[in-house]
Amino acid sequence: MTICIYYSNPYISEFDANVVSIKDDWIILDQTAFYPGGGGQEADVGTIEGIPVIEMKQSGNTISHRVPNHTFAIGQNVQGIIDWKRRYELMMGHTGEHLLFSHLSKICPDIKLVKISIGQDRKSLTIKGALDWDALAVAQERVLDSIEANFPISIFNVSKDDVSLDDARIKIDRIHGNDVRLVDIGDIDRAACSGIHVRDTSELGMLLITRLVSARPDADFEIEFEIGDVAKRTALNLSITALQSAEALGARVQDLNRALGNVLNERDVQAQQLRMYEEKALDNLTPSRIGNVNLYSGLFGAMDKRTLLNAAARFTKNHAACVLGSAGERFMLVIACSPDVDIDCAALINRVLEPEGGRGGGKRHFATGGAPSPERGEDIMVRAIVKLRTVLDDTASGGADTLSDIK
Ligand SMILES: [Zn+2]
Repeated sequence: MTICIYYSNPYISEFDANVVSIKDDWIILDQTAFYPGGGGQEADVGTIEGIPVIEMKQSGNTISHRVPNHTFAIGQNVQGIIDWKRRYELMMGHTGEHLLFSHLSKICPDIKLVKISIGQDRKSLTIKGALDWDALAVAQERVLDSIEANFPISIFNVSKDDVSLDDARIKIDRIHGNDVRLVDIGDIDRAACSGIHVRDTSELGMLLITRLVSARPDADFEIEFEIGDVAKRTALNLSITALQSAEALGARVQDLNRALGNVLNERDVQAQQLRMYEEKALDNLTPSRIGNVNLYSGLFGAMDKRTLLNAAARFTKNHAACVLGSAGERFMLVIACSPDVDIDCAALINRVLEPEGGRGGGKRHFATGGAPSPERGEDIMVRAIVKLRTVLDDTASGGADTLSDIK
């Protein structure tokens, strides 16, 4: 059994211990300040006798440290030093997570905590249930109130049938053994937890929510946050970004949401108008006649893909073929013909796109593809139309009717 210094005094970052067991890279000490991880909090890193500890594991009451390249002997007295800056940030992050979820669950009583991640790179809560930025804003404000109120954090063990579990946040099926470790934040929150926490809430300084993203399908949302000095500096950077965005939109930062809403509305209206003009431009295409087949062709600038495909299908109902191009960020090409016209559109589209580093696919009578350079669009269109005309001319005159005859 390892004596867990991280529980008896979480503020100890340097300690002496005796090596009691060695198996390859893994060593067991009689006592350790290295937290092996748990409750969503990552394991500590650091050194033993200056050699990096890169991994920790726990088996029952025994804690093992992975120390590659060590030369320790059983009975040797060693000094362990944990990466304190990282550990303290994780302690703050863990207490911050308890505070944030506690307040959030009072605002949105139906939410459930699915997962916690407390690491240096990512501190987050994964939630099942409905919430939004308004709820997060209120929760964040209340967390700040709790930080300023400087609530003490007290940690104690009780048995599984203790009455103090009645008002605790706990997943009883995840508790092994008879004892439950409870973490109280003042009298505002009580949760079962195996993690490492700070002594009082004022140590957190600040908690800042930095991201809200979908966590589907396993849950609904993941809320990322920062804590302490990192939170303060992130808030400064975000405020500059918000001020610059407001300036770019010609609005006060307080009106940023409304100004952005207006811009998005305008964009939707313009997109609708653009669709209308695109439809009109397509409807105005006059086909050229080759034998009894109408050939529609046109090159457009950055046309909506769906609009172009719908037009191709519309044009090629009977005795018709079409070559339609759109030069946006890439060049997009559609070659189609009606079922009564014998052209292998998929073969044709690849023949014209491959020399341009592009490719196409689809069916014999309806093929789409693209090429990387939109400025090559006109040349590609000309080549496609010439090849298609050759097949149609030959078919009309009873000559070659397959692409393989086209050089
Ligand atoms: Zn916890």
